[in-house]
Amino acid sequence: MKQILVRECGGPEKMELVEVAKHAPGRGQVLVKLASIGVNFIDIYFRTGLYKAPAPVSLGMEGAGVVEAVGEGVDGVKTGDRVAYCMVRGSYAEYAVVPAAQIVVLPAELDFQSASAAMLQGMTAHYLTHSTYALKLGVTCLVHAAAGGTGGLIIQMAKMRGARVIGTVSTREKAVLAKESGADEVILYTECEFDQEVKHLTGGRGVDVVYDSVGAATFMRSLDSLKPRGMMVTFGNASGPVPAIEPLLLNQKGSLFLTRPALAHYAATREELLARANDVLGWVASGKLKLRIGRTYPLAHVAQAHIDLASRATAGKLLLIP
Ligand code: NDP
Repeated sequence: MKQILVRECGGPEKMELVEVAKHAPGRGQVLVKLASIGVNFIDIYFRTGLYKAPAPVSLGMEGAGVVEAVGEGVDGVKTGDRVAYCMVRGSYAEYAVVPAAQIVVLPAELDFQSASAAMLQGMTAHYLTHSTYALKLGVTCLVHAAAGGTGGLIIQMAKMRGARVIGTVSTREKAVLAKESGADEVILYTECEFDQEVKHLTGGRGVDVVYDSVGAATFMRSLDSLKPRGMMVTFGNASGPVPAIEPLLLNQKGSLFLTRPALAHYAATREELLARANDVLGWVASGKLKLRIGRTYPLAHVAQAHIDLASRATAGKLLLIP
């Protein structure tokens, strides 16, 4: 079978399409024949070495397809089931061996591309808006990269929960997309000091919570966009990781709360994973949550997908088709 491997961390050219043996699933595992593969920013972090994994690194954390074989001790999933999963590396491939505990059986009406577009970013948006900071009517949130894959889903879930949403984007075209997702106001953070614009939009008060996936470039101004006792959720590093800060800074900027969450800790049990996945996939299947699939690429063109994602040229979700 074909698989993308990284023998040495570096640029997009380090991703090699190689022929490897197809493994049989072990105890508690299933073999999935992938039909569609999600591309996520985390794949770039593993490729560049920002996030560590032993070499050669098999990339890709999300996929959807058909179960081709099941190992011993697997309950609830059988050969022929249409499934999706995320948070298991190695999905940039024609087949993947996945722990059955990570597998979600798809609703009949959901296609593979939608499923592989929804799992990782959808569950992330779910935990951020429902658990890390449970949004509700009367609360205002700031969402960076609001036309991105995760950003567009955070906006929609924030609106479902009744919150007011201020989004930031780099271009006017992306501003239109963020509005389509439901953002109440959109700031072009490439053209102004966004914290000042946030203060202006909130009558000087600041927002209750910032969902910041951009990282180094936005971190300080995000803190300055918060109301006293507001919550800073720094959950990504698209512009680079946030440098160290003194806890005293949080006191000086208004007794702020700071958290750096990861999906794995918010889908930590099978029960929690299924609750979030069933919400997300159910909403997509019923049309309540809209996916924007920005572009699909053949698996062999993965380097172009990474170049596009890292260059801010994309909106919505990118997929690889094996
Ligand atoms: P996106 O589709 O959001 O793409 C990244 C976007 O970030 C770009 O389109 C761009 O939007 C913005 N951006 C701002 N500065 C830069 C920069 N210097 N380089 C590149 N992009 C920049 O990607 P994803 O939805 O896949 O991921 C978004 C973020 O969420 C990532 O940081 C990812 O790590 C994080 N994440 C975290 C999870 C967690 O549990 N902690 C889980 C899932 C995702 P614009 O042009 O509008 O500025």
